[in-house]
Amino acid sequence: MSGAPLGFVGLGAMGAPMVRRLLAAGNRVLAHDTNPAALSVAVSRGAEARGSAAAVAAEAETVLVSLPTPSAVRAVALGPGGLVEGRAMRVYVDLSTTGARVAREVAEGLAPRGVLALDAPVSGGVAGAEAGTLSVMAAGDPAAFERVRPILEALGSNTVFVGEAVGQGQTLKLVNNLLAATTWAAGCEAMAMGVKAGLDPELMVRVLNASSGRSFPTERFAAGPVLSRRFDFGFRMELMAKDMRLALEEAEALGLVMPTCGAARTLYGLALAQGAPGADVTELVRVTEGWAGVEVAARGRNEA
Ligand code: NAD
Repeated sequence: MSGAPLGFVGLGAMGAPMVRRLLAAGNRVLAHDTNPAALSVAVSRGAEARGSAAAVAAEAETVLVSLPTPSAVRAVALGPGGLVEGRAMRVYVDLSTTGARVAREVAEGLAPRGVLALDAPVSGGVAGAEAGTLSVMAAGDPAAFERVRPILEALGSNTVFVGEAVGQGQTLKLVNNLLAATTWAAGCEAMAMGVKAGLDPELMVRVLNASSGRSFPTERFAAGPVLSRRFDFGFRMELMAKDMRLALEEAEALGLVMPTCGAARTLYGLALAQGAPGADVTELVRVTEGWAGVEVAARGRNEA
């Protein structure tokens, strides 16, 4: 193991496998999460627990975070007991999807402490985090990026420097997720229509995925999690809805209207209002299935 430890805050669906990869690459990892169960899993894999974000940043020069919301990022970076209080930290890397505004706020808050902030949101899901095949969209100080590039390359197979302006990585990630989320909403409506018209769900999804209607959602949401009724992609619907909100807020600030994406966002709102807390993004299809009175289930997998 190398001597200089890395810090990591936020050991959830994405953070946990990312820490595992950093440990496997020979790094010492000082980890923190407010959820004790998440922390003990990381410790069982070789990470060292710290009781606060400040304690992580007191020892680690490079600290990565993978947190659910902009407010969690603000609290962890700048709040009481936050990273800003740690004296060792020199480079801060936000792997979460939290938008350009909070990225800039945090960069401004950390700059007086001599800390360089990079936003480096990721795409590829839990499976990508486990396999180290994430797409990483980094922005900020180029020298800081070069310093952490080997760390990011342990997490992803497509690490791209988006630009020097803090927040550009976040904006690109929001563009990506707005597109993926809207594509998925259309997919849920289209698949329910096909099944209602009598198509076999499994055959339909197979043909879509070999035809021009295919997309990441039809390949990775429909083919496995929906047809099997396991709904186990590993990305909570509320997080996807948060990404749509952040993206559409950014669009509004730019004076843009996005009617198609806005309509898709309504479907997520309905699904969140009706669905179970913590529902997976793949469960969006339950809304359109309910309207059509059908299930996009592989044969023998109907829940009813
Ligand atoms: P998650 O909710 O599973 O994990 C977040 C972790 O942060 C939890 O363990 C939680 O306890 C911890 N946490 C929350 N507040 C904290 C605080 N104040 N201090 C310390 N720890 C705190 O979420 P996730 O699915 O791992 O997603 C993390 C981020 O990555 C999100 O911004 C999400 O949008 C983004 N993302 C997720 C996926 C995915 O497929 N799950 C893919 C790409 C990007």
